[in-house]
Amino acid sequence: MSLAGKIFNVVHYVANKVQRPAVILLYHRVTDLEQDPQELAVSPANYDAQLGHLAAEYSVLDAARFMYHVKHKKPFPERSVFITFDDGYADNYHEALPVHAKHELPGLFYITTSKLGTSQELWWDDLERILLATDPLPLALKVNINGQAWEYPTDSFAAARKTYFALQQVLRFSTPDVIDAVMAQLHDWAGVTAEGRSSHRLMTWEELKVMSQSPYVTIGCHTHRHPAVGVLSYDEQYKEIATSKTLLEQHLHLPIDHFSYPFGSRKFLGAKRYYNADSIKAAKALDLKMVCANYHGQVHTWSNPYALPRILVRDWELPVFKNKMEQFFKY
Ligand SMILES: [Zn+2]
Repeated sequence: MSLAGKIFNVVHYVANKVQRPAVILLYHRVTDLEQDPQELAVSPANYDAQLGHLAAEYSVLDAARFMYHVKHKKPFPERSVFITFDDGYADNYHEALPVHAKHELPGLFYITTSKLGTSQELWWDDLERILLATDPLPLALKVNINGQAWEYPTDSFAAARKTYFALQQVLRFSTPDVIDAVMAQLHDWAGVTAEGRSSHRLMTWEELKVMSQSPYVTIGCHTHRHPAVGVLSYDEQYKEIATSKTLLEQHLHLPIDHFSYPFGSRKFLGAKRYYNADSIKAAKALDLKMVCANYHGQVHTWSNPYALPRILVRDWELPVFKNKMEQFFKY
């Protein structure tokens, strides 16, 4: 282990002796997929088992309660867990919500608004549809990304898969306009329309409205078009966040107090970051009360309420999930 890693462990060990930690879990989808290159889907059976375990062994807090502890710097109850979902996929309503109701557990669902109620997929799913689920493809992809010409091989599934991961890395640090322009070129190149798969659609506004009225659900915003806000100017960041917050408030007639950064990890590409000081400033200016990021860590009362760590949950079967949960609460 690196020296930094050792220091990190010691700091966490001491922190957990001083105060009990809480853990925020991050999910995206509850469904079975033919392929899931980002590994973001948890099967309905595993999700049911995971929530059953949380209901039996942990203290799952709702958004208001969790925020109370964060804002007022009050220590969390023993083994406090907070469940969050990003993006707004339709399966959150059709698959996840019934499991929450069954186990009577609350969750916070962060919604990206631009594709709600459309037949279009979020860009990384669309990229997967084109490169990994379209057959046959041309032998190579020539694409203009923000004024620069790129060429990627697509002459085999393995090559297309490599190209998918490479483009995915480039696009996640691109502006929404650049992403839209690249995706339009990809549709033409592959000879497909922008019409997405129903398995990858987001909720409709009607579904989201019903979901928002569940006693187990709190709704938060997640930007309008899902850019890494850190690559945008302050004004552009403000607009992306404000648009999603306002649309949700208008459609759902609810105050939106919660936000999570798209992607949201602390990884960066050169000077490009998923979020930065301007993102926090914009969230505060919009009167958002609590903001989640996406880097591994525990929450203590001294954690920054505008960049809380979250732990990504994979499609783990119950024994694996049980062990992981124990680890998440250790230093
Ligand atoms: Zn997201």
